[in-house]
Formats: sequence, C-alpha cells, structure tokens
Amino acid sequence: MPFTLPKLKYAFNALEPYIDAKTMEIHHGKHHAAYTANLNKAIEGTDMEGKSIENILINLDKDNKPIRNNGGGFYNHSLFWEIMSPKGGGKPTGKLANAIDSAFGSFESFKEKFTAAAATQFGSGWAWLVVHEGGKIEVCSSANQDNPLMPGIGCGGTPILGLDVWEHAYYLNYQNRRPDYINAFFNVINWDEVSSRYAIGKEEVKE
Ligand code: MN
Repeated sequence: MPFTLPKLKYAFNALEPYIDAKTMEIHHGKHHAAYTANLNKAIEGTDMEGKSIENILINLDKDNKPIRNNGGGFYNHSLFWEIMSPKGGGKPTGKLANAIDSAFGSFESFKEKFTAAAATQFGSGWAWLVVHEGGKIEVCSSANQDNPLMPGIGCGGTPILGLDVWEHAYYLNYQNRRPDYINAFFNVINWDEVSSRYAIGKEEVKE
C-alpha cells in the first residue's frame, strides 16, 4: 500500500494537559487511520498511485471527493502530529521569527490572527500558517479536509503550521470551548519543526 499511517513521535498522553490522551488515541488511531485507508482505496488503479501526497493535492481535481477528503485528511494530520511536541510552546526564533514580525508586526499579532482564523472557521476545518515561494507568510483557514496546497483553496502556498478545528480534535476535553483548545495548542507548537518547514517551503516552486 502506498500510504501508511505515520507513527507518532510521542506517547498519546504526552501533550496533556493541553490535548488529552483519549483524543490523541482516537484521532490518530481511528480518524487518521481511516483517511489513510480510504486514500489508498481511492488511488488504487489510478495514475495517482506512486505519486507523493503533495503532488496529488497540488494537481487535485476538486470534484474528486474521495481524493479531496481523504488525501487532505492524510496530509493534514501527518503535518499536525509533526508540528506538535511535548517540548513545544514558546515562540519561534531566527528567520521564522523575522518573517512573523514582518508579516504581522509581532508574535502576539500573529497569535491573534491565527486564533481568529481557527475560531471563526464555521464548522469543521483547519487554520493554517503558510509560506509562499520567496518567504512571505500568511494565515488563513479552510473547510473540511481542504488545505492550501489544493488549487484555489485558502491562501495558497505551503502549510507550515496547521490546527485541526474539527470537533473530533477537541470535544472530549473541551466540548464546545473551541477558543480554550486553540489557546492550549500554543503550548505544544513545535516551533523548531515549523521553522524547518518554513526554510524548505520558501524555496519551493509549486507547479
Ligand atoms: Mn482531525
């Protein structure tokens, strides 16, 4: 099978108290596993077999709902686990910090903008920080399992930070308190990983 569920680099309970173990276990072991299995089914026997997930999403036919939903779900969650860490939190440093200051004025303004994008996404979806070729960064949100790699979705560019605001991501612990979950997320953001993705993403030409 071409795509496999990536292993978490930390235990299910490692992000507590910000994200609870039960949510992580179901989110990774059931939701992400289902997107992975359904993506594999959807590409079987098509010319997408053997292509990278980025390539599949960049060239997506948005009317192809099985690929859009499950390819998006596979990619989005694979990113999500990586940009969190039990040693996360704090603020970015170096070139990413400079890019945040020049795009938003300050880290606090970035946090406000990202929080607003996550809080106001109606229903299920994601909030994103993306980098464009050349290094400009931008915040946006998208519905369902869409992401800015897909043609015409969100702000375009390459996602370097994403927050899942589907209820399955927070409901067990936070119920309807999405703003509390968003605030908690900032305590587990792995800024080293986001910085690496920024450095790679700003060099990428998306064709
Ligand atoms: Mn999810």
